[in-house]
Amino acid sequence: MKLLSIVVPCYNEQEVLPMFYDKITEVMQGMKKESPELDYEVVFINDGSKDKTLEGLRKYARLDERIRYISFTRNFGKEAGMFAGLEAAKGDYVVVMDADLQHPPEFLPQMYSYVSSGEYDCATTRRVNRDGESKIRSAFARTFYKLMNKISQTEIVDGAQDYRFMTRQMVDSILSMREYNRFSKGIFSWVGYRVKYIEYKNVERAAGTTAWSFWSLFKYSLEGIIAFSTAPLAIASLLGIISCAIAFIMAVVIIVQKLTIGIDTSGYPTIVCLILLFGGLQLFTTGILGQYLAKTYMECKKRPVYLVQETEKDIDRQ
Ligand code: UDP
Ligand code: MG
Repeated sequence: MKLLSIVVPCYNEQEVLPMFYDKITEVMQGMKKESPELDYEVVFINDGSKDKTLEGLRKYARLDERIRYISFTRNFGKEAGMFAGLEAAKGDYVVVMDADLQHPPEFLPQMYSYVSSGEYDCATTRRVNRDGESKIRSAFARTFYKLMNKISQTEIVDGAQDYRFMTRQMVDSILSMREYNRFSKGIFSWVGYRVKYIEYKNVERAAGTTAWSFWSLFKYSLEGIIAFSTAPLAIASLLGIISCAIAFIMAVVIIVQKLTIGIDTSGYPTIVCLILLFGGLQLFTTGILGQYLAKTYMECKKRPVYLVQETEKDIDRQ
């Protein structure tokens, strides 16, 4: 027997939960018919939802012994949810997917066949369009991927998603990365392995609303850059070198002009401009240093990535 663990982070998903449960049960029953050696479990992570998600999960866990859940003490973010799910998953294969059916469960049989054949260690979807997303958002996303791939050794594929079907070996590799600041798009790619990208057209959320605002996505992309690249630190030194060079050249020019043609150097505007320029540059670069320092500080504390309040073991199942 082979066990497939399906890891699903949920934050305020009461509306889509029934749809998701029906869909996944249907797809998995179909898959079990095709491949009788396969059994499955679903590990939901309730990431501090403020709605009735937890009640829903309790209900399904009572109803169906294949349903497990982990409920956090508060909202720790999707990254923490995925990490908790991967830690709890017992399967020989693990798949991470969203609760909102934007990661269509119909892909599971295909993913399973790619990975179980031994040809790939991971199968994932890659969306080829960004329909249903604002133009500005898509433009920012594309710029982020371009920039990221320029400045980081870890390649991040545009459109690749957190819908990942992985072998136990790959999951263990991911779990061995104990960092506190988890940027999973980078982590999935950093561990390597043979990845199969399945291309598909983006689908809209089945119900509910996305928890990501433009601002939170922007912050998330900065996190990604800081977690997987030290290039911004190099920018600081580069800017320093360039401004020193400019200052040196200017000094030489002014001295030469003064000695040869004897100009009067009107100082005030130049000085104000330069003070502003270099003050700004210094603040900017100290800010970059500060970002890395802050991350290092958080890592040093070795805080747990998440805290669990309740799991399916805490309720009595029939
Ligand atoms: N999610 C989570 N914690 C959060 C935010 C989101 O566990 O703090 C889950 C959410 O329930 C969903 C998945 O992460 O299953 C993706 O979230 P969403 O659909 O809001 O993001 P998008 O599809 O817009 O990227
Ligand atoms: Mg979604």
